[in-house]
Amino acid sequence: MSAFVVPEPKNEPVKAYAPGSPEKLSLKATLKQLAQEVTEIPQWIGGERVKGTNFEIRAPHDHQKVVGRAYAGDASSVSRAIDAARAAKMDWGALPYADRAAVFLRAADLLAGPFRDRMNATTMLGQSKTVFQAEIDAACELCDFWRFNAAFGQALEADQPYSPPGQWNRTELRPLDGFVFAVSPFNFTSIAANLSTAPALMGNTVVWKAAPTQLLSAQVIVEILEAAGLPKGVINLVHGDPAIIGATALASPELAGLHFTGSTATFQHLWREIGSNIARYRQYPRIVGETGGKDFIFAHPSANVAALSTAIIRGGYEYQGQKCSAASRVYVPRSLAGKLKERLLPEIEGLKMGDPTDFSNFMGAVIDERAFTKISGYVALGKGPGARILAGGECDRSRGWFVRPTLIEVEDPKHRLMTEEIFGPVVTLWVYDDAKLEEALALVDESTPYALTGAVFAEDRQVLAQLTERLRFAAGNFYLNDKPTGAVVGQQPFGGGRASGTNDKAGSAANLMRWASTRALKETFVPPTDYRYPFMSEP
Ligand code: NAD
Repeated sequence: MSAFVVPEPKNEPVKAYAPGSPEKLSLKATLKQLAQEVTEIPQWIGGERVKGTNFEIRAPHDHQKVVGRAYAGDASSVSRAIDAARAAKMDWGALPYADRAAVFLRAADLLAGPFRDRMNATTMLGQSKTVFQAEIDAACELCDFWRFNAAFGQALEADQPYSPPGQWNRTELRPLDGFVFAVSPFNFTSIAANLSTAPALMGNTVVWKAAPTQLLSAQVIVEILEAAGLPKGVINLVHGDPAIIGATALASPELAGLHFTGSTATFQHLWREIGSNIARYRQYPRIVGETGGKDFIFAHPSANVAALSTAIIRGGYEYQGQKCSAASRVYVPRSLAGKLKERLLPEIEGLKMGDPTDFSNFMGAVIDERAFTKISGYVALGKGPGARILAGGECDRSRGWFVRPTLIEVEDPKHRLMTEEIFGPVVTLWVYDDAKLEEALALVDESTPYALTGAVFAEDRQVLAQLTERLRFAAGNFYLNDKPTGAVVGQQPFGGGRASGTNDKAGSAANLMRWASTRALKETFVPPTDYRYPFMSEP
């Protein structure tokens, strides 16, 4: 087999969608067309469309608008998906790496070209993303996952051990000995696709369970993978009751891995299930999970106020704060607090929110009623003792699940608003005493169980270096004078530690390695023919 070289990956350029641009006109036309349709979203098992009990998918910003009709299965569909994954396994795992990689490289080009509008439009309608948020996620980040992973996987295959004279040592990356269960969240279309395709690139077959609120764009992922020539049964998408799907998949002796992104509570539940089933499995399942966060921005007295204010707005409110990396707690020194508020509050009040198909909006709605109720509860805490709403605070469910971008100041740095993941457009600020920098840093580091993303703002280089060292374990993705969101594949490998996940870095060689089981081969060219060693002869 020739040692083929995967084309060098480049980040997919982000389109501007400026007024009158061809991309804007064509996306608008697709949005218009999709708005008149109800997309059918069956399960995808062994390459077949499988129906079941139907349920509606509605636009978060217009909850009376049905945009899709999905079909839920039950435990028998999960068993069927596991069987389909097993049936596809031998052929897919035996296919040369270059052929597997080619499927995903082709998928990336199909997404960048003919499927781009549909992918962005479904992400906008189904998940309430603005055009920019859809473009950087569903189009660009997903192209990047597919292209960069193909190159990372090749580098792993090429990494070979040393061979002293007389022997040849090799390592072979085999897929895991069973199926991988991929479970994805609602908030990133790209993550949903990567959770199933990264293990597949390494030769595994997959049972994939997506979040119900992401299914409109999940359907486009299926269409792209089919168009790219992915063989039947390599990835199998099941819909339905998460508890039934989870329990059925995790009870299978064939389970070889869990690739999860979602909340910390769900991940811990799945980990416990795996633990309680441990004696049934044919192998120890690999467990990879990227979970919740309570991401911080820490401002030093030397911080640039304009940069800080912009980072709070973009980091805290883009995609309605529904990013695992979204800035959620901000620490500001008393010496800067007045100046920051003067700039920040009117800007927050001016943010335009509404239907994302109106491109002038900066924000859309939160994902569903459950999220709306949860986030409204946190906003209400801002009106309680020890807290004050500085901006926003309005929640309106009349047409869609809309929560105004909200800034709350608290007196106690351990207030629930400063320590719990809210996953909505609510940022909480605590003002620290300039003379008590170390106490404030200890709070950043220790007051939440999470360690996903964090940002520090300072103009003084000495201070930047000190903060970076002091907060070494507080975040898996650490930003200096930048917002804590917007990691790019190939540039900032993404993932956090502590309660935020196993930090296996999505879109990196480290992640792919979790889906490979190494076999070491040693070949001796002229094997010994006498068991006696020289030391055994006496004079
Ligand atoms: P969630 O935990 O509610 O759901 C995630 C997925 O798990 C969904 O598909 C859901 O249906 C499924 N699920 C729930 N219970 C299950 C069970 N018993 N068995 C099997 N599957 C089950 O999370 P969400 O609301 O979709 O996403 C938001 C969360 O995801 C936030 O906590 C956010 O921080 C986190 N997130 C983390 C990252 C990261 O990289 N760290 C990225 C995106 C989102």
